[in-house]
Amino acid sequence: MAGARKPVVEVRRSQRRRRTVSAYRDGERVVVLIPAQFSRAEESEWVDRMLARLAAREGRLARSDAELLARATRLIKLYLAEHGTQAVPASVRWVTNQNGRWGSCTPADGTIRISHRIQDMPDWVIDYVLLHELVHLIVPSHNARFWALVARYPKSERARGYLEGVAAASGTPLTD
Ligand SMILES: [Zn+2]
Repeated sequence: MAGARKPVVEVRRSQRRRRTVSAYRDGERVVVLIPAQFSRAEESEWVDRMLARLAAREGRLARSDAELLARATRLIKLYLAEHGTQAVPASVRWVTNQNGRWGSCTPADGTIRISHRIQDMPDWVIDYVLLHELVHLIVPSHNARFWALVARYPKSERARGYLEGVAAASGTPLTD
């Protein structure tokens, strides 16, 4: 049976959910959120469906790290050119274990991680999150100089509004 190869699944029932089901990976486990009134049969059907969807999504993630780097290179050229190599990340990749932040950056080693939760958002929003993290390579804190650099991207304010709206609608406080 294929069952032995399945990841550990934790099903969480939510009174607030009506028909929506979602799933995310949390370390070794997969958490599947379902409406409280689902039957056992519906639960089992949806767990299988969400595991398949997650696997497909992760396949796509693996392929698109290169695209993310290409996007970063273009943004550096457009908005941070005079900072030269300081704004060039050592690595930039999609991650699925970052549910409380859109993106994160470690200036010490130059690595940037972008949450899979923004993967289906419009290009101009992804560009904002990426540019935000690239600017952190130059200015680690959210000070005036940081925001002045971020504001070079014309859709910064619009993207911030978009992300705030998504965070409010999902009930999750997401930070950058
Ligand atoms: Zn930030």
